Amino acid sequence: MRVLVVEDDRMIGEAMSLALRDAAFAVDWVRDGASALDALETQHYGAVLLDLGLPEIDGVSVIRTLRRGGDKVPVLAVTARDAVSDRIEGLDAGADDYIVKPFDMAELLARIRAVSRRKDGDASPVLSNGRIHLDPASHEARVEGAEAIRLSAREFALLRALLVRPGTILSRSELEERIYGWGEEVESNAVDFLIHGLRRKLGQDAIRNIRGAGWLVDRAP
Ligand code: CA
Repeated sequence: MRVLVVEDDRMIGEAMSLALRDAAFAVDWVRDGASALDALETQHYGAVLLDLGLPEIDGVSVIRTLRRGGDKVPVLAVTARDAVSDRIEGLDAGADDYIVKPFDMAELLARIRAVSRRKDGDASPVLSNGRIHLDPASHEARVEGAEAIRLSAREFALLRALLVRPGTILSRSELEERIYGWGEEVESNAVDFLIHGLRRKLGQDAIRNIRGAGWLVDRAP
């Protein structure tokens, strides 16, 4: 899943980007409201982490602009401890949740999982097509009747992308977009390599290839 971080503070922005990459998110980081709106217009994101205290166009204005334009991307507002009125304004403008600085990275990750889950229309924390089950908190996958297996960060990101909508084909570029952030080098055979690894762990038929179109996980009956 690709996440947009909007944060003007370099230290906080770097720390958030690192923690998110470690947790297998593809991350783009911008530092002001105008760049955030540009990024959101050109790229599809699974969630936005939005500092409300931004220079020039503030975070609440970014949320208003997004929601006015019909964009339903999950927004997690990031605010200062004393900024209660900002928080209320942010939620009323259309933020899905907020987190107060300084925050614990583990809590931030849990909140992102929660807002993206609600957007996917499913309150259950485990993604599944009925046969393969994936736990976004532990990065463990389990095939019906077998032991749970820990996936690498990128294997997890790829399988998550497919399991969000079982039965839907994702092309190579759609998968790359969900696994890699801006500026991250993508080897031309990276997706094949990850799929090979996932099939080795979960079985050859876990992920199906549709020649010339892409890959999918079947929707179990
Ligand atoms: Ca700020």
